[in-house]
Amino acid sequence: MIITHDHADHCHGIDELRAISQTLGKPVPFYGRADVLERLRRRFGYIFKSASFYRAVGEAVEVGSELTFGGAQIRFVDQPHGGITSLGLRIDIGSRSLAYAIDFNELTDDMRTLYEGVDVWVSDCLSRRPHPTHTHLDAVLGWAEEMKVGQLYLSHLNNSMDYTTLVDELPSWAAPAHDGLEIEL
Ligand SMILES: [Zn+2]
Ligand SMILES: [Zn+2]
Repeated sequence: MIITHDHADHCHGIDELRAISQTLGKPVPFYGRADVLERLRRRFGYIFKSASFYRAVGEAVEVGSELTFGGAQIRFVDQPHGGITSLGLRIDIGSRSLAYAIDFNELTDDMRTLYEGVDVWVSDCLSRRPHPTHTHLDAVLGWAEEMKVGQLYLSHLNNSMDYTTLVDELPSWAAPAHDGLEIEL
């Protein structure tokens, strides 16, 4: 489990991980920045502690700049997200690559370098209008073109981002993401 940041809309499904940890037979590793993991520990102490019959659900693991996971290499970058930062990531498997950039409002040079030319870019795209803590449609489409990403999926959409309207208006290389979407690299 990679924790991009500890905003409620990203981590309040945390209790659902109990079933996964039971299937694994061990705590789920939570990969994230130290300050984020510390705040999660304060807010959800029971998740990280074994108590009588109940085993800990999660185990905090601080990430650096990269991580190897099976055959995948995962690299991280800190993204500006209003007053905080979120973790953006790029996954490389063989010659294929995907970047996942949720909850950011500005594309930094480090992000641009990491995401440049990926086969698939999943990006925050909250709204049609600029927003102080999130990206908006024109900016994301522009960045995707500049970085020459293969396929763009828009995520974190608000009510101004109607699914079928977007499907009709977006270029062939862009699409709104949706629940249950599976991406094969
Ligand atoms: Zn957020
Ligand atoms: Zn969010």
